[in-house]
Amino acid sequence: MSRFWSPIVHSLTPYVAGEQPVISGLVKLNTNESPYGPSPLALEAISQATADTLRLYPDPTARDLRAAIAESFGLDANEVFVGNGSDEVLAHTFQGLLNHDGPLLFPDITYSFYPTYCRLYGIAFQQIPVDGEMRVRLDDYRRPCGAIILPNPNAPTGIGLPLAEVESLLRDRPDQVVVIDEAYVDFGGESAVPLVRHYPNLLVIQTLSKSRGLAGLRVGFAVGQRPLIEALERVKDSFNSYPLDRLALAGALAAWKDREWFERHRELIVASRQRLAAALRELGFEVLPSSANFLFARHPGKVGAVLAGELRSRKILVRRFSAARIEDFLRISIGTDEECDRLLAALGEILQ
Ligand code: PMP
Repeated sequence: MSRFWSPIVHSLTPYVAGEQPVISGLVKLNTNESPYGPSPLALEAISQATADTLRLYPDPTARDLRAAIAESFGLDANEVFVGNGSDEVLAHTFQGLLNHDGPLLFPDITYSFYPTYCRLYGIAFQQIPVDGEMRVRLDDYRRPCGAIILPNPNAPTGIGLPLAEVESLLRDRPDQVVVIDEAYVDFGGESAVPLVRHYPNLLVIQTLSKSRGLAGLRVGFAVGQRPLIEALERVKDSFNSYPLDRLALAGALAAWKDREWFERHRELIVASRQRLAAALRELGFEVLPSSANFLFARHPGKVGAVLAGELRSRKILVRRFSAARIEDFLRISIGTDEECDRLLAALGEILQ
């Protein structure tokens, strides 16, 4: 606390990100990065951009990257907005599109940045409980509200919503903005991007951090019809007209275009997820059905904090949350098969 703070700072509860350790040699399964890193073409494009153009300001409109993303979805470049990680795209979305008279609705178990943004921007919100199986029930979102945001698949549960249910919600709420945060959609979720054409109230947000292995470069984007995208552009231009630097623009463009690399690695991750889920169940874990690059699991015989601590002492990092109902769950990012095997061996030892 300080008397120099603006009043809003007193009410902020900063988002606590997953740990990014400086020690090497850890099996790092705590923040859902790709174990494989980005396409080699992205690395090449980044070194090229480093050598050639760092002297110059980047393109503030990110024209080439937006055009490439738009093209793969059959959209127009001006229906795509890019930002410094999907976190920044979300921040602009909260400020520009989700601050209305009624409360913003989102699940009680979800990406914990949402309440943080609401406090930062003074947005009233209501968290809707997930059901007994930790599923989001869209019938509960048909109440009066200002707007809706849902991650699909949800985080940290990994559970996906069928597209037909999302579409039915969009149809029922034509006067509210509905944001679908698809950070993990490439690992088996059903993307709402094809619905953008039909629903002017839909904004879909994705990231290159997970399935494109570029968490360190910070690139995310939103797609939606012009009025929604224009709102984000207005916020961005008032905040930082150069959200992506030249390296991010070059690396993201090359990564986006390398479809073959992307498909191959997401399939590897999905296969490893299935293998790891089966092995965890064999060890007695309850594992939620995941459409993401992580599993959410708890062991009936072990307190989550103790289990996470014992893994940590064996140099394996997983993520734990202290919120009610999920305090005993571990969120385990899918690593390489070798990393998953190290995790399973450690768990076998701990649980015997
Ligand atoms: N949405 C969800 C649901 C997430 O879990 C994350 C990752 N923490 C993000 C958005 C943000 O990802 P990034 O800023 O790396 O694009």
